[in-house]
Amino acid sequence: MTSTTSQTTSQTTSQTEIRTGIQADIRTGTRAAERPGGRAGTTRVFSAFQATGRLTLGNYLGAILPAVRLQDEAACVYAVADLHALTVRHDPAVLRARTREVAALLLACGLDRSVLYLQSRVPAHTELSYLLESTAYEGEMRRMIQFREKSAAQEEVRLSLLTYPALMAADILLHRADLVPVGEDQRQHMELTRDLALRFNRRYGETFVVPEAVYPRVAARVMDLAVPTAKMSKSSASEAGTVYLLDPPADIRRKIMRAVTDSGNEVRYDPAGKPGVSNLLALLAACSGRPVESPVHSSYGALKKDTAEAVIEALAPVRERFAVLSADPAELDRILAAAAARVTEETSGLLAAARLAIGLA
Ligand code: ATP
Ligand code: MG
Repeated sequence: MTSTTSQTTSQTTSQTEIRTGIQADIRTGTRAAERPGGRAGTTRVFSAFQATGRLTLGNYLGAILPAVRLQDEAACVYAVADLHALTVRHDPAVLRARTREVAALLLACGLDRSVLYLQSRVPAHTELSYLLESTAYEGEMRRMIQFREKSAAQEEVRLSLLTYPALMAADILLHRADLVPVGEDQRQHMELTRDLALRFNRRYGETFVVPEAVYPRVAARVMDLAVPTAKMSKSSASEAGTVYLLDPPADIRRKIMRAVTDSGNEVRYDPAGKPGVSNLLALLAACSGRPVESPVHSSYGALKKDTAEAVIEALAPVRERFAVLSADPAELDRILAAAAARVTEETSGLLAAARLAIGLA
């Protein structure tokens, strides 16, 4: 799911803070039993990763690592949202390849203790989505900011772009998720998801758990290396400022050594005054385990060198596991097929309850 573009302003960000982002919220968020439809016991987490574009270091530190750590605290289900990729013009072969790549990368990053599956392999998503389209109003769909922005930028607007939030609601409600880690830019869609769950429950009887969104802390935002006031993102035009998870070490080193820094030469964490240097310090902290504020570098060059090596080292195990998974496509097929079968099985009760409640025989 997606995120905001605002910039970190914390002066005291430490590696611990970067690391604890979502977990801190999770601990305060285990009020499942107090929410409408919520249950005591294990917290259930669901989130989906878009199948568009190549995953970046920003995705890794801001979304994937928190998801990996959440596996210790909650029952986690993660999907690669390939159906959502059909809402805009796409190339079938590219979509297929990207979907598999994202799935393999997420497993390589350590999401192997959750259920990780491909959204399109579980037809319950589209079936529940239709029931929710029949609960939602056209007007509220058209009011969604993302629809308005994305549709304004295109000549041919697919109908699925308009109905996308109903599918997103179905993704979440299908799993009876208590908590949904998402980027800030999904706030409106999350509110709609809650509205639809409450409306359905009120009209047709208690069926859905009303989920709570968990937004990542701003401190976990990685900025573009070439434009340090903009967020690093996979759809960015500037490849020079974006570290992709599968970049070879030499590319990572080059991109970080050429990172735009700030005037002066003092290495100091000051996101407002020194966004470039602060971004490198935050990256170094997140990847190496050293606190951000420690002023151990006498020059920008030394900071870049250390940051590059820390990022390369942090991503090395991901690259290695990805290579192993990629070498055995049949094994990836088997893992994904087993996960889809398990999700189909585990969500069949909820789907049957929703069908029955709304009046289908
Ligand atoms: P796009 O450009 O397509 O929006 P993106 O790189 O912003 O791509 P999303 O799919 O929007 O990626 O977001 C996936 C997850 O990664 C979200 O949870 C989001 O908060 C997180 N994320 C994205 N970019 C960053 C970043 N630069 N720093 C930290 N977290 C990020
Ligand atoms: Mg985004």
